[in-house]
Amino acid sequence: MSIQVFGMPVSHGVAIGRAVLVASSRVDVAHYFVSADRVEHEIDRLRLARDAVAAELEELKRDLPPEAPPELSALLDVHLMLLHDDTLAVATKTWIRERHYNAEWALSAQLEVMARQFDEMEDEYLRERKADIEQVVERLLRLLAPEPPQSGTRPPAPAGGADFGGEEPLVLVANDVAPADMLQFKRSVFTGFVTDVGGRNSHTAIVARSMDIPAVVGAREASRLIRQDDWLVIDGDAGVVIVNPSPIVLEEYRFRQRQSELERARLDRLRHTPAVTLDGQTIELLANIEMPDDAPSAVDAGAVGVGLFRSEFLFMNRDGQLPDEEEQFEAYRAAVVAMRGLPVTIRTVDIGADKPLERLTPAEARHEHALNPALGLRAIRWSLSEPGMFRQQLRAILRASAFGKVRVLVPMVAHLSEIRLTLEALARARQQLDDAGRAYGRVEVGAMIEVPAAAVMIDRFLEHFDFVSIGTNDLIQYTLAIDRADESVSHLYDPWHPAVLHLIAHTIARANALGRGVSVCGEMAGDAAFTDLLLAMGLRSFSMHPARIASIKQRVLRADTRRLAAGLQAVLGAEDAQTASTRLYTGGAVH
Ligand code: PEP
Ligand code: MG
Repeated sequence: MSIQVFGMPVSHGVAIGRAVLVASSRVDVAHYFVSADRVEHEIDRLRLARDAVAAELEELKRDLPPEAPPELSALLDVHLMLLHDDTLAVATKTWIRERHYNAEWALSAQLEVMARQFDEMEDEYLRERKADIEQVVERLLRLLAPEPPQSGTRPPAPAGGADFGGEEPLVLVANDVAPADMLQFKRSVFTGFVTDVGGRNSHTAIVARSMDIPAVVGAREASRLIRQDDWLVIDGDAGVVIVNPSPIVLEEYRFRQRQSELERARLDRLRHTPAVTLDGQTIELLANIEMPDDAPSAVDAGAVGVGLFRSEFLFMNRDGQLPDEEEQFEAYRAAVVAMRGLPVTIRTVDIGADKPLERLTPAEARHEHALNPALGLRAIRWSLSEPGMFRQQLRAILRASAFGKVRVLVPMVAHLSEIRLTLEALARARQQLDDAGRAYGRVEVGAMIEVPAAAVMIDRFLEHFDFVSIGTNDLIQYTLAIDRADESVSHLYDPWHPAVLHLIAHTIARANALGRGVSVCGEMAGDAAFTDLLLAMGLRSFSMHPARIASIKQRVLRADTRRLAAGLQAVLGAEDAQTASTRLYTGGAVH
């Protein structure tokens, strides 16, 4: 039977594929197919890991002190029994043999199946054994010797599965996916994803958009309603997931997929067209990147530089081992070199809130660290609380500037004291490099305007910075007091709210008046619904995911900034978001 699950559309497009249910904590397990001749090798890896875990458990049992409670020894026996139990061992091999999953994926797939069986048990004692099987699988995953993923291998057709046209793409279904785990998608086989939790502007959603993967988040019951291997259509435009669609519905979505491929090919042709409006204004279209590897796709997409390098992604999922100065320097230099002389704006780490340092899911992090992490030790606050680490990052960024044009961007500044301390740290980092005889170039220093206090104080802030970049994602969150990752209030997260528009317009106007660079690097910059409005406000620099550049360029090429500017006051004078969103063309002199 076909059912529909509703959530929030966070990344455009349609994905059609078989569901792979993955526990949130295991999304970062490598997922790849092994070729037929590697199947036995993969099963061997599993066997070796199982033997190693058995030895580990036996040793633990042997070394138990005499005073240890007898339950401990019994627990280790249960773990040994589960380790050798057919439900785990045989079924995991079946995933490898029949589906060609790598060992890690096969183990986590089988764990997901067993966890559901335990959840459905009546007996409370048995239900609680789920934790034991999870611990055993964790041990196995830890002891599996890492292997480089194979690529280009197609999965075999599923036994007894419906024929949906030969291709067998897969979509991931999870309760939650942490932003750092999203990076796994680049190397994974999934063509779309659905999560139970998350908001439209959560960092997970942003990374999905940056990868151009159709996605629906906040689909509350999805991971409970969807079963392993169900056929899914993810409608990333409407925020709907259709489970086991009828042939007619499926055909409709296949048609839409083909249409968007054609549209993409058409937009691709704009790649090297300069972004100039009808009235001759040149608009700078920059890219947002998370890792140095993203830089080539920024160049390919026609970006004229990087407007936001979210450096915190280098710091996440590191199990406490943060990147040192050398590793950071190499990463920044790689991005600078890959951009071939185009400017690279490196934001200092924006750690905290839904981007925790440790491998915690955002929900765990929320409970572990602070009541209101978005209002806590985040971004520049975190950097200033770790002065040694901050200077290390600044030195690495400065050194990369010897290889091309680099700009430093400071996130979440709200106090003049933060500006003073940041500039002092930068001066100190330069001094340290001078003392060590290290080369560095001239870097411009800018601030993210993403806290209302900074937007209101923009004139004072601009005395200290060469440029500003408006982080609309956080500016909306903090102006409207809406947690951007919380789906229960996401209907109130509205970029058209007049208070938000006033802060953005004011920041752009003052930066332009004072002759300082101003850009928008939040999601509004890559959303074609806001291009005309931002142009009307006087914005001439937009930074967005590379995948969005062509669509925004298309809007720019059709815009006349003088006519648009004439409609701005009507938008700013609107009393609510609904009215504001209709006024640009109807309330002013346009048309
Ligand atoms: C923003 O807040 O708009 C922004 C670009 O930063 P991030 O989304 O990384 O918080
Ligand atoms: Mg931000």
